[in-house]
Order: sequence, then C-alpha cells, then structure tokens
Amino acid sequence: MMATEKADTNNVDIAELSKFSELAHKWWDKTSEFKPLHDINPLRLRYIDDAVSLSGKRVLDVGCGGGILSESMAEKGATVTGIDLGEKALKVAQLHSLESGVKVDYQLIAAEELAGQSAEQYDVVTCLEMLEHVPEPSSIVQACAQLVKPGGHVFFSTINRNPKAYAFAVLGAEYLLNMLPKGTHDYAKFIKPSELASWARQADLTLTGQAGMSYNPLTKRYWLNDDIAVNYLMHMTKASAA
Ligand code: SAH
Repeated sequence: MMATEKADTNNVDIAELSKFSELAHKWWDKTSEFKPLHDINPLRLRYIDDAVSLSGKRVLDVGCGGGILSESMAEKGATVTGIDLGEKALKVAQLHSLESGVKVDYQLIAAEELAGQSAEQYDVVTCLEMLEHVPEPSSIVQACAQLVKPGGHVFFSTINRNPKAYAFAVLGAEYLLNMLPKGTHDYAKFIKPSELASWARQADLTLTGQAGMSYNPLTKRYWLNDDIAVNYLMHMTKASAA
C-alpha cells in the first residue's frame, strides 16, 4: 500500500514541537535536559546494532532531533537519513555533523510524506522517543512500515502507560529528580506495548524483540532488561518479498 491519505501537516502537535524547539541549542550539551538521551544512547545503539549490524545499511531515523542516535549509527558505518519537523533541531544536527565530520543527511519532512516518495528504500527505520509526542502515533508506525524494505527492520521506543510509568517517567524524572523539564511528557499519550504491537501488526510488521530500559537514580546507571513497565524498545520486521 503506497497511499498516504494523510496530509503530512496533520499529524503534528505544534505545542510538542515548540517544547523541543526552545531547547534546541542544548541538544549536544550532555549536562542539559537532553542528558537522558545521551545516557541511553549507547544502550539503544547496541540493541539496534546487535540485531541488524548497522555497517553498510541504509537507515532512516524518524524524529531524529539533534541527531544523537543518527550520528552514532553513522559512526557504525550506516548511511543515515534523519528526519524531523523541528527546524531548529535539524539546524543543530546539521551543524554538529559538520563539526564532528560524521555525515548524516538531514531533512525537514514528515514521515508520512517521505513514505509517499521513498517507500521501501531503507534497510532499517528507527523512531525512538518520538511516538509519545505525536497526535496519531499509529500513522507514524504505518509510515515507518512503508519506508522499510521487505525483510527490513523497524525499531520504536516509547513509554508505557500504567501507574508505574507515571510514577517513574513523570513524577520521578520531571518532579523528583529534575532530569527533564516539567511537562516534557503527557501521561495520556504514553503507549502500551500491546497498542504499539497492534499498530505494527496492522501495518504488516512482526514483533521480533523487545527490551525494557531501566534507570537507577542512586547509581545514575541505565541498563536494558526484560522489564517493559516504563521505557521500552520494540524491534519489528517486515516480511521479505514473496
Ligand atoms: N529520536 C531522538 C529525539 C527524540 S525527542 C532521540 O531519541 O534521540 C522527540 C523528537 O520528535 C523531537 O526532535 C521533536 O522535534 C520530534 N517530533 C515531535 N513531533 C514530531 C512529528 N510529528 N514529526 C516529526 N518529528 C516530531
């Protein structure tokens, strides 16, 4: 199915975009509000690389922000395109790539629109920590499924919706530990693994693996495990062409 019925501008929450826009100059400041993304990056990078072997792969990073994950995948030898609807984030990403010399192709385009132009072009599509900021996450999942080649891989990460997730991701991270600005996350937009898995199934993706991401505030350490109660990653695959 190639059709993208949805106008690309529909599926964006302007208030969400501006939250990230205000902080854009801090994307690469590892002590800033983006510290948690820097801290978890090695873990998620390893999860992805272990599953797909990034070297030589064509990768699309959806909702790439300042390019923390995009650049790290390019450093592993992947050819990476990063897309986002935040103009400032993309500018920061571009500048950083010039400074670091790690090449990434950054584009300001909605996932749904790119899916209409470049269906089945990517070996791997990543969409991390973004679905919980979008009005219709299922439409992003559908677009990712269109963008990936048959036999290719899609990775999502987001936050589960239950009392524990509320306690850890909102009260803990935003209010107790001040790891994130208050209002970063809207509990109602958190996504249960069963919901994400069901959107993926509707888009003909098969759930291939999942992992939880945990944080210990005392040791300030993150690690991957089987506990998907709060932050989690999902690995999906698209069936090979018949
Ligand atoms: N994926 C990156 C950044 C996560 S922050 C990482 O994990 O390191 C969330 C990002 O989603 C921000 O850069 C924000 O601009 C972007 N975003 C929010 N809504 C979007 C939308 N509708 N389309 C594309 N990007 C969006």
